[in-house]
Amino acid sequence: MQAQHTDREKAVPMFNAFQRRVPDDISRWLAKVSQNPIVEAFPEKIDIHPGMDSSMLLPTEMPEVLSELVSKPRTRRTVAYINVPYCETRCLYCLFYIKPYRNKEESKAFADTLIKELQLWSDKPVQKGEPVHAVYFGGGTPTALEACDIERIIKAVRRYLPLANDCEITYEGRLSGFGTDKMEAALAGGANRFSLGVQSFDTKIRQAVGRRSDKETLIRQLEKLMSYDQAAVVIDLIYGFPFQTLETWKEDLRIGRELNLDGIDCYQLRVFEKSPLYKYIQNGKLPPGPDHELRAAMFQEAVQSMHEAGWKRLSISHWASNTRERNFYNYYAKTRTDCLAFGPGAGGNLSGYGFMQHRQPDAWAKAVESGVKPIAMMTKPPLFWELGRAVAEQLELNFFNPSQLAHEFSEKFATLWNPLIDNWTEAGLLAPVGNRFELTVSGQFWQGRMTQHLLDYFKSQTK
Ligand code: SF4
Repeated sequence: MQAQHTDREKAVPMFNAFQRRVPDDISRWLAKVSQNPIVEAFPEKIDIHPGMDSSMLLPTEMPEVLSELVSKPRTRRTVAYINVPYCETRCLYCLFYIKPYRNKEESKAFADTLIKELQLWSDKPVQKGEPVHAVYFGGGTPTALEACDIERIIKAVRRYLPLANDCEITYEGRLSGFGTDKMEAALAGGANRFSLGVQSFDTKIRQAVGRRSDKETLIRQLEKLMSYDQAAVVIDLIYGFPFQTLETWKEDLRIGRELNLDGIDCYQLRVFEKSPLYKYIQNGKLPPGPDHELRAAMFQEAVQSMHEAGWKRLSISHWASNTRERNFYNYYAKTRTDCLAFGPGAGGNLSGYGFMQHRQPDAWAKAVESGVKPIAMMTKPPLFWELGRAVAEQLELNFFNPSQLAHEFSEKFATLWNPLIDNWTEAGLLAPVGNRFELTVSGQFWQGRMTQHLLDYFKSQTK
């Protein structure tokens, strides 16, 4: 593995080249200037997570790279992700479904193997020593596991990872089947935050896409979980489902707020062609969800009504009613952190190298049982990956500050993005505030697209 240079070191020769080259056609990154930027600024399409391009490591290169990464202490803020691959049923819109949950034996076998995986690197510099600031049990459905296994795996994480004293430990899941035995097991294990996929409280809407519980059950379960008063309770709400209207969305937000939850996350539904929901809509079994214009109105409604109710905006999609909810993992996972990863299908990154573990539980378990970290593939650090993360970090928090990037990486960055900034300001996506630019509500709606455009524009200037 070659020594890693900092982005600042690499920026100097690249920018000498940048100064000599002919300016690129930038029209593809400009927004349409109109009276309705939240709807019309850019063409409608599904955005994927913004980032720099990365290339795969050859399987023959992986052992040496991995061995060097594992032998060095981490130097960045760190999060850990644990993937639990089981779901009791498949939700129609989901691409993360891996395996149906079958029985107690499967839960026990999974927990046993996961604990072995946590031990594999526990004496290696990459895992021991430097603190881990946030842990996230995601999936899949971590709440599908048996109560005793939930408690065991959280305790194992606390034992084998060097958690910071204020480490956020999130246990994700769904409320269906999450009884008091499992709630108490997760709390006994040490979870201090629950992230629960409510999606919509409306019984007809949620059951149409494969969720099980009705509104009354959800409310009862959430009230029970909050009554322990030991952990932040946060729910996801999603806009874009079949049968959703602006009125049902307002009602979802109202119920969430009135439950006195610690946090509410609002996401826009992306209907991917590979999802069962896409086929249901194509075959006429379900009507399409709200169109682009209505989804924009739903986003606006969330921003406006949460603000009016006094909830604090933590990032583009996250709101808190109090200071118990911190949203560490969701934010840090998008920043210049390292991410340790465990479980089938989990993805992590170390010093800019990405890695993905075997997705199928059998292949994952076989590797762990033979004493090998179950990594299936790795990617090289994209050129300027830290800059890419620094840009994403800013937009995730609703602002863009080229001066800060200039201070941190290269003075060229103070003016590099001016053509985009000028256009986006005129189009109503950015508003100048001192040295920086805040995203307007319209800009927030297009935040993913704008982040990718900033990175693509940067790449075009440094080829
Ligand atoms: S429970 Fe979660 S991971 Fe499982 S299918 Fe539903 S949305 Fe996907």
